[in-house]
Amino acid sequence: MADLEQFRMLIGGKPVDAVSGRTFESQNPYTGQPWASIPDGGPEDVDAAVAAARAAFDGEWGQMTGFARAACLRRLADLIGANAEELARQEVSDSGKLYREMLGQLNGLGGWYQYFAGLADKIEGQQIPSPNPNYLVYTRREPVGVVAAITPWNSPLLLMTFKLAPLLAAGCTVVVKPSEHAPASTLGFAELIEQAGIPGGVVNVVTGLSRDTGAHLAGHPGVDKVAFTGSTATGKAVGRAAMDNLNAVTLELGGKSPQVVFPDADLQAAANGLVAGVFAATGQTCMAGSRLVVHADVHDELVRLVAERAASIKLGDPMAAETEMGPVANQPQYEKVLGYLDKAREEGATIAYGGVSKESLGSYFVQPTVLTVKPTDTVYREEVFGPVLSAVTFTDEDEAIKLANDTPYGLAGAVWTKDIHRGHRVAGKIKAGTVWINAYRVLSPSVPFGGFKASGLGRENGIHGIDAYLETKAVWVELTGGTRDPFTLG
Ligand code: NAD
Repeated sequence: MADLEQFRMLIGGKPVDAVSGRTFESQNPYTGQPWASIPDGGPEDVDAAVAAARAAFDGEWGQMTGFARAACLRRLADLIGANAEELARQEVSDSGKLYREMLGQLNGLGGWYQYFAGLADKIEGQQIPSPNPNYLVYTRREPVGVVAAITPWNSPLLLMTFKLAPLLAAGCTVVVKPSEHAPASTLGFAELIEQAGIPGGVVNVVTGLSRDTGAHLAGHPGVDKVAFTGSTATGKAVGRAAMDNLNAVTLELGGKSPQVVFPDADLQAAANGLVAGVFAATGQTCMAGSRLVVHADVHDELVRLVAERAASIKLGDPMAAETEMGPVANQPQYEKVLGYLDKAREEGATIAYGGVSKESLGSYFVQPTVLTVKPTDTVYREEVFGPVLSAVTFTDEDEAIKLANDTPYGLAGAVWTKDIHRGHRVAGKIKAGTVWINAYRVLSPSVPFGGFKASGLGRENGIHGIDAYLETKAVWVELTGGTRDPFTLG
């Protein structure tokens, strides 16, 4: 126990242990060893955090101008930059993702706070013309209140930031509940909040081993808005809990995103995009481009190129500079991925590369895997959340679009072609929140992100990302000072 790093929750501006005094361990998926001791918060800790968030909303933070909030966000951005290496190390220890990816992510993360700082002092209402000249009508944009932000284990800080940056810009307060599988980096991040000059209670972080901790927060009557990133199944439960309190909810859920490759595409570039889409982060991203929809004429060549690159991917220590793919982030996820590979074999998939675990490396390594399958195969239909690409073929554009859209999900997708007309035409027909043309896995604070269909509700990022944290109030001002017939409308 002595050599575990100790983390504490943040409630009301103070580092605290769980009321129960219990802790749980976060395991490093690469070493297989526990590395951090985490407070095991429960409902009473959530209650305290929600009360602190409410008090902060009703207190100093609620009185601060957008200009002052923007200054806090900018300081936070600088602090993230200054602490990027430490936060990246915590992310890697928690989830096994590559240090080089996480360091890049952390170095870019301040950009989200800078972007939303730029919006914090530009939250404007409107003066609205009324058909009755005796009234002046205007709108105010007011913060929605206390937000519950619940995040998954892959990229905890990035996915929290999609919520935290706009909600702070809007003037809300928050209780963040990171995943029990990767809780430490969010607690590490919380240590920067006070230094940024953000008053105590504005940002609270509660950790807990039981999934009931998140459920208690999602359904908490003291919360005004729920922002969730995670699986579609949990998202439905979170949506129901929010709706019971008539709370607005943003859901960023799972995906099974298609990469459609036409025969005129630059196949080398497409192969590289496929590798980025499904093997980066060991395939554990919501936007993983895990379905390859490829023209029959170029199937063999493209699958060969991707399989060749897959075979050369360097698996190993996620902290090492030369490593390209780390382990799967935790044991349940590892078993889930291997289960999908067994099922793929049973259902007759052709394996161009991979298909098995790499037990020789220890811990939860799975080979990057390239399969050719039928569109009815389970591995092609369900979210694997691992390094597994499943290819199917088409012969004309209509069939390609049909195959791309033959999924309950709609988070992302890509079109690979040199034909500019076709690129835009097909991008317009793919039912997904993000479509890249001749690219994959690019994100920005300024670009909306979110899902169609079972991939979610609402959008994060972009100018309108802040709207999820604002209420619109209409104010009517009677101008004549006279009285009116009280039994008529307006
Ligand atoms: P998960 O749904 O199991 O858990 C997400 C979070 O919800 C965790 O913090 C968990 O403790 C909490 N939780 C569990 N039960 C809850 C309940 N009943 N009420 C409230 N909270 C509850 O997801 P995960 O396994 O951590 O993450 C992987 C999933 O997240 C994948 O499906 C992936 O596609 C999705 N994801 C989506 C996006 C996106 O932006 N669309 C991004 C990353 C991950």
